[in-house]
Amino acid sequence: MRFLGRGLMPVMIREIHMNEQIKKEMVAEAFRMLEYSYAPYSHFKVGAALLSANGMLYGGCNVENAAYGPSNCAERTAVFRAVACGDRDFTAICVVGGKEGEVTDFCPPCGVCRQVLREFCDPDTFIVILAKTPEETKELTLGELLPFGFGKETLVN
Ligand SMILES: [Zn+2]
Repeated sequence: MRFLGRGLMPVMIREIHMNEQIKKEMVAEAFRMLEYSYAPYSHFKVGAALLSANGMLYGGCNVENAAYGPSNCAERTAVFRAVACGDRDFTAICVVGGKEGEVTDFCPPCGVCRQVLREFCDPDTFIVILAKTPEETKELTLGELLPFGFGKETLVN
């Protein structure tokens, strides 16, 4: 977890554009988290960096289990870590991943992680950054990744 400071608050506009310096920090943190990945079964290492509205950056990695089912993705590790710190207001997440930690392509969040993000994040404004290299990135909104998603507001309708 790293504090980015008040002066580095991301600037979000409708056309999915965010502060380049913040984005660089997020991509670097996601790549750094690959080192912590525990993936002895799939050997597919994933790192994530979740940015909260107050400028906190929460790193996460995938954590596998011999029983497979209890395994957890990097994105959810980051979200649960942040929530356990009392933070629930998120702006963006960066995800990177690849076999043995070698990132050769974009690594989009799985369906379960998209749903977990949907619990805390606005699908119209929350940004998911996928990175192949620090320079080669793709940005999508959560709503683009999970259209017509099920959220807490669905329950009250
Ligand atoms: Zn996942």
